[in-house]
Amino acid sequence: MPELPEVQTTIDGIKPFLINKKILSCKVSVKKLRWNIQKNLCKDLLNLKIINVSRRAKYIIISGEKFFLTIHLGMTGTLRIANKHDETKKHDHFKILLNSGKQLRFNDPRKFGMIFLSKESPLKENRLFQKLGVEPLNKEFNTKFLYEKTRNRVIPIKNLLMNANIIVGVGNIYASESLFLAGIRPQKVSSKLTMKNCEDLVLSIKKVLRKAIKKGGSSINDYINADGKSGYFQYDFKVYGRTSLPCHNCQSDILQVKINQRSSFYCKNCQK
Ligand SMILES: [Zn+2]
Repeated sequence: MPELPEVQTTIDGIKPFLINKKILSCKVSVKKLRWNIQKNLCKDLLNLKIINVSRRAKYIIISGEKFFLTIHLGMTGTLRIANKHDETKKHDHFKILLNSGKQLRFNDPRKFGMIFLSKESPLKENRLFQKLGVEPLNKEFNTKFLYEKTRNRVIPIKNLLMNANIIVGVGNIYASESLFLAGIRPQKVSSKLTMKNCEDLVLSIKKVLRKAIKKGGSSINDYINADGKSGYFQYDFKVYGRTSLPCHNCQSDILQVKINQRSSFYCKNCQK
């Protein structure tokens, strides 16, 4: 599943091809992704100029003067830039042709993605956005914030990190990696985190996410970047998916536990 770094990498990849370009045509070849695609979506996009491409949580927002096209990649969605006459791939469900001759294509084998168009910013008016927590790479996500959020919460810290109503975009992979870097066990009760723990964890999350963005995302599923190049990127995981392999720091076996039905990985020596 694409996580925050994959979404940011996608944006960084497609943005230069979209800014200041006009939409010449648009084609939807499947009616329903996670939800039905609006009937007039393509018609309403014609001749509009794209001004910006931004991100909120894992939503990609392509916007112009009077429109906001919001895209969520779901489980298996990818966006890529193609040339007009490039062969259509299986599961290419949505295409936008730009006046540069380039085409933006949305591919999604499992169809859990979302595409919707609005006249106002979805950040203001869409209920999906109302409850979203802070962006982990923004200043509001800091030691004080995490310390306050962890008070009186008797849930594993890993669950808290993955709760999008508190912090957005920290999925299973990056929660596991950040906790390792901070030296905190994933199952540690949130309210028992010290101020120092919170400081270490905030720094670790930012560091892990920034590194992953720099590496171009690291989703385990086949992740295709904006150039349509294959491949999942090689982010050298310290604990994620490394059950029974030696810890890079201390050589003891990485352990796997289920927390909230999600596999979690940690080192019992390096994480307390
Ligand atoms: Zn270790």
